Amino acid sequence: MKPWDKNIRRVVPYVPGEQPDQPHMLKLNTNENPYPPAPGVAEALYTFDTDRLRLYPDPGAGVLIRAMAKRYQVQEDQVFVGVGSDDVLAMSFLTFFNSDRPIFFPDITYSFYDVWAEEFRIPYERIPLDERFRIRKEDYYRENGGVVFPNPNAPTGELESVDDIEDLLQHNQDVVVIVDEAYIDFGGESVLPLLDKYDNLLVVQTFSKSRSLAGMRIGYAFGSRELIGYLNDVKYSFNSYTMSHLALALGTAAVEDETYFQETLHKITATRERVKKEFAALGFRFGDSQANFLFVTHPNWRAKELFEALKEEHIYVRYFRKPRIDNYLRITIGTDDEMDVLLDFLRDYGKQEKN
Ligand code: PMP
Repeated sequence: MKPWDKNIRRVVPYVPGEQPDQPHMLKLNTNENPYPPAPGVAEALYTFDTDRLRLYPDPGAGVLIRAMAKRYQVQEDQVFVGVGSDDVLAMSFLTFFNSDRPIFFPDITYSFYDVWAEEFRIPYERIPLDERFRIRKEDYYRENGGVVFPNPNAPTGELESVDDIEDLLQHNQDVVVIVDEAYIDFGGESVLPLLDKYDNLLVVQTFSKSRSLAGMRIGYAFGSRELIGYLNDVKYSFNSYTMSHLALALGTAAVEDETYFQETLHKITATRERVKKEFAALGFRFGDSQANFLFVTHPNWRAKELFEALKEEHIYVRYFRKPRIDNYLRITIGTDDEMDVLLDFLRDYGKQEKN
């Protein structure tokens, strides 16, 4: 023990999904988009004037905020952008969860929430999902210091309805409620329209999944003018220049191509629905995921063993060694061809298991 040890802010870190770098791997472990970003993104990159890099970027991220406000039909002062939605969520935890009462989030959910809560010394309570991994909204009627959950949930893919979320908002008007819509574009209905009614609602989304820009790190939040104002105060007090010139230019190009966006979403959701049928035929059990991944379990196969067997073949999926879900795998939806490689492997695996 060093004498200064007692002064350290110790954290048990979040463990991000593996980012292996193999020539012929099939990467279905971190919910990335298998299709490239919109063509305008490449064009913005190739025409980018590197001389601009001498100068600091716009701390208000104006060009991107304007594009977002236009696309989502909100006021510019209702938009906040950050370095991926992880950055936006971390800032939001720090800004909005400052009560002695515990914040509430589901027991099975994005595994960063408890890490931020621990890191920022925010008391929290994990509220168990029901046996089908759905939120029981009545559990959130008690006093708390704030509420956060993803919709669709991760890693389950389960989608809660706008009506149920509105009910939850009605019962939680004196705290901030954060809806993490990282996967909403793949089939869910956003609660964005509820912003007009609830000034304590923060809706967080990302460019990492539906806009194919995980590597550029862009996330954003919509909220009332007051909430976004408080978020900006905290952001400016940490690092005013979070968004680089390049992130602003490429992010703006991505938002401006609605046609490409819709086409990509359509391809991914069509593949997902096909894969659901194939997985059911293989005996897997899973919910009706509305995200770009499936969360599956098999009555005869151990998830961990299957995970290892897939990894041997350089097929990467996600396995969580956690209570209630340690016999599940989360599998990202890739292209049709990629999913065929996975399905071929699984059919063979099934045959070997029988022998
Ligand atoms: N929320 C959820 C539910 C997620 O699964 C992820 C992806 N790990 C994020 C937020 C963060 O994504 P990003 O920082 O790439 O926007």
